[in-house]
Amino acid sequence: MICPNCEYEYVDGVKVCADCGAELILKEEFEGKLLHPSDWVVIGTFAEIYEAEMLKANLSGAGIDSLFFTKKDRNFPLSGSWETIKILVKKTDADDALEIINDIKNRKPEENTGESTNENE
Ligand SMILES: [Zn+2]
Repeated sequence: MICPNCEYEYVDGVKVCADCGAELILKEEFEGKLLHPSDWVVIGTFAEIYEAEMLKANLSGAGIDSLFFTKKDRNFPLSGSWETIKILVKKTDADDALEIINDIKNRKPEENTGESTNENE
């Protein structure tokens, strides 16, 4: 048995958490509610944080939870600001998410005529 709040484990027979008073649940049940890293898949890699932010917004608009993480590559010899951003979604959402990504990629930008949004280069 385990407390879903404190994650304290108790021996069989204990019904409520001695610490917070919450009802204990089976440990297997508790772990079933957790998302393991293996439940997430990378569906895209981006070089610009705004691209990842936009995709995340689009996904959440479609009801898909996503998360992204950035990883600075210290071995990259250039300016030191090189980052890759990976977007992850749950495996069960991967198909829908990929559809959204393809939809975005296939959409032609109509208002942005200029190529450069970054003038610091
Ligand atoms: Zn507790």
